[in-house]
Amino acid sequence: MSECLFCRIAAGDIPSDTVYATDDVIAFRDIDPKAPTHVLVIPRRHFDNAAEMTADDPDLAARWLAAATEVARSLGVADTGYRLVINTGVDGGQSVDHVHVHLLAKRGMGWPPG
Ligand code: 5GP
Ligand code: ZN
Repeated sequence: MSECLFCRIAAGDIPSDTVYATDDVIAFRDIDPKAPTHVLVIPRRHFDNAAEMTADDPDLAARWLAAATEVARSLGVADTGYRLVINTGVDGGQSVDHVHVHLLAKRGMGWPPG
């Protein structure tokens, strides 16, 4: 069994509050939300980060980002706006090494980010 937390969530071994699922992408609510709406969108297949995924499977990377915008639409935040965040590496603040995009919405976002 994979030791990767998000691989295990994608496989259904660890429960999650899933809001969207296709054959290759799944989206679920963050366990420690930083906004009223906070969803993580991941490819089911493991990549450490977005650079690895776009190099290896750019079509999947495109479907993954398209899925994030579809989740925003389905959760009713497409019109009010949202923020997509891809933390990468140590300075980027990445804590789970399975590529994921954060979808944050339902509050105003500051800039620059912390
Ligand atoms: P990162 O810091 O890597 O950009 O984001 C990882 C995110 O995963 C964090 O926002 C954290 O709250 C979330 N997270 C960590 N463990 C779990 C978990 O077991 N379930 C869910 N749904 N989210 C998790
Ligand atoms: Zn993984």
